[in-house]
Amino acid sequence: MKKLVSMLLIGTMALSLIGCGGGSSSSGSGDSAASEESGIKTSQEGKLIMATNAEFPPYEYYEGDEVVGIDAEIAAAVAEELGLELQIEDMAFDAIITAVTSGKADIGAAGMTVTPDREKNVAFTDTYATASQVVIVTEDSEIASPDDLTDKTVGVQLGTTGDIYAGDIEGVTVERYNKGFEAVQSLQSAKIDAVIIDEQPAKVFVEQNEGLKILPDKFTEEEYAIAVAKDNTELVEKINEALDSLKKSGKLDEIVAKYISADDSAE
Ligand code: GLN
Repeated sequence: MKKLVSMLLIGTMALSLIGCGGGSSSSGSGDSAASEESGIKTSQEGKLIMATNAEFPPYEYYEGDEVVGIDAEIAAAVAEELGLELQIEDMAFDAIITAVTSGKADIGAAGMTVTPDREKNVAFTDTYATASQVVIVTEDSEIASPDDLTDKTVGVQLGTTGDIYAGDIEGVTVERYNKGFEAVQSLQSAKIDAVIIDEQPAKVFVEQNEGLKILPDKFTEEEYAIAVAKDNTELVEKINEALDSLKKSGKLDEIVAKYISADDSAE
């Protein structure tokens, strides 16, 4: 640790020598300069810990034992811009906000929709994707639109916006699952009548499972953003700067295009 500090000191001094052409440095003590320079406070020095729920393709899911997907890649690109090392922690979706508020994680990146309720507990960065909730039913279902859901049993992932919307539909019985995929399996085995979930994972689940379809009517317009502890305004600002540069350089579109084909994403 001492060694690291002194290395940083030497680095800072070298930089200020270059910067000032050998003249006197205006910055005060060397060791605070290092942190001032980046201005980033994270729970573990040099790291950016991301809380996610890796059950949400194409945003986060497992490939072997690695978490991949749009959020994982955006977070990796943001971490790189910030000079931090990304560490991904997989957990239940409804544990993510607590992980961020308690400082166990620095960010929550999980296809997380910005909602007024969540904004009471965490700060959100600028948004990086738009999304909607859709309804999945079996191909032979008599449910043709969200209006037909009255008095039906609807599966959702616990603590998601789909959970909230399902609860708002009159007469609906809501079945909550830890993973969206478990809700889809329940639908396939006719234990429930429909699933309400975000559109992109819905497409992946319908593609991977026989006999299911997505209803054409979409429920909501939502926006995904990264959750950060409320008092860490520097981190929000730095992530926003990084997101902005990823948007401008085309890198963000590139990441999205890798996981979502163009004719899908425009919908
Ligand atoms: N977008 C939804 C939400 O924020 C679902 C996110 C998820 O399941 N990962 O509640």
